[in-house]
Amino acid sequence: MKKIQMVDLQSQYKDIKEKVDVSVINIMENASFINGPSVKSFQKNLENYLNIKHVIPCANGTDALQIAMMGLSLKPGDEVITADFTFAATVEVISLLNLTPVLVDVDLETFNIDCDKIKKAITSKTKAIVPVHLFGQSANMEEIMKIADENNLFVIEDNAQAIGSEYEFSSGEKVKTGTIGNIGTTSFFPSKNLGCFGDGGALFTNDDDLAHAIRGIVNHGMYKRYHHDVVGVNSRLDSIQAAVLNVKIPYLDSYNKARQNAARAYTDALKNIEGLITPKAGKKCTQICENCDCHVFHQYTIRILNNKRDSLAKYLSDLNIPFGIYYPIPLHKQKAYLDSRYNENDFFNTNLLSEQVISLPMHSELELDQINFICEKINSFLK
Ligand SMILES: *Cc1c(COP(=O)(O)O)cnc(C)c1O
Repeated sequence: MKKIQMVDLQSQYKDIKEKVDVSVINIMENASFINGPSVKSFQKNLENYLNIKHVIPCANGTDALQIAMMGLSLKPGDEVITADFTFAATVEVISLLNLTPVLVDVDLETFNIDCDKIKKAITSKTKAIVPVHLFGQSANMEEIMKIADENNLFVIEDNAQAIGSEYEFSSGEKVKTGTIGNIGTTSFFPSKNLGCFGDGGALFTNDDDLAHAIRGIVNHGMYKRYHHDVVGVNSRLDSIQAAVLNVKIPYLDSYNKARQNAARAYTDALKNIEGLITPKAGKKCTQICENCDCHVFHQYTIRILNNKRDSLAKYLSDLNIPFGIYYPIPLHKQKAYLDSRYNENDFFNTNLLSEQVISLPMHSELELDQINFICEKINSFLK
């Protein structure tokens, strides 16, 4: 059996090494390091893949979120609703811009933002909702867009963990996540489903005016060279990273399929074990189906019941089986984001999940014998 890794970026590189090497060396030979042709072609490639009018590449997924909020002209004091159970980047940029983060609880089954809690959190100051498509699965976008319409709110989809996944509306219409709200954002951090060899990110939108505004913001607020119309930032996807992404984007669907196959194998191997709950995929799917992309498994995250998560974690460490705890502390309990207006009773699910979740190794190169080995060990521990 190959050594089990949480993510296996070396094996993935080996399969595409020749193409990536040529593509990267080409950038060095042409010295087209900043905003070279590879960036433009990646922009087009991602626009085609997502079926969206505008992609604006930037330096990382955190910048993408910040720039999205700047692009929507959110102002200090505006309230932005987001999930309590996610990576801190989302709430961090809200606070950095002096906007007011309003964290809300998530759904126990999907780990995604709870729409009833969104409704309860809306005030006259609320300006935007930032759903995070956590672990590779879309939040309930139909309901979120309805709430946003009714209350005149912007929606920014944090798609950093779900690129390539699809959302199906009740009408049957299917679209890629990140293309539903006013703006979608993503990250190309190496371990994401579409990762580059360093940092990278992008924003997407179908709104021409917003796209124009964002293109200036990422470039020091310039719409004409050396004319600074708004306060901007310097946030670029560099040409070498774009060159890597141009090689990888045609493989994204096959990478996601490999993740889905691994997820299915995990769920099969874990289904008769008591004391744990395997992830639910899709609002309609009762299992991880072969024919849809409603979940692209950035993480395969299970819940360990009966207070055994930490002892299982220790057991897996002793066996050199890697795992992740995403996320061990809900954001509303993080020192930087404490707010006396929060009431612990409103965060029942995030408090519970932070004590129950464990994410198992997940990547496009995971093999069946590795999955079975991990599951046998979990079984023998919980038995
Ligand atoms: C990774 C991630 C980000 C941040 O992306 P970076 O490129 O690391 O800045 C933001 N939100 C979520 C949900 C993420 O998983």
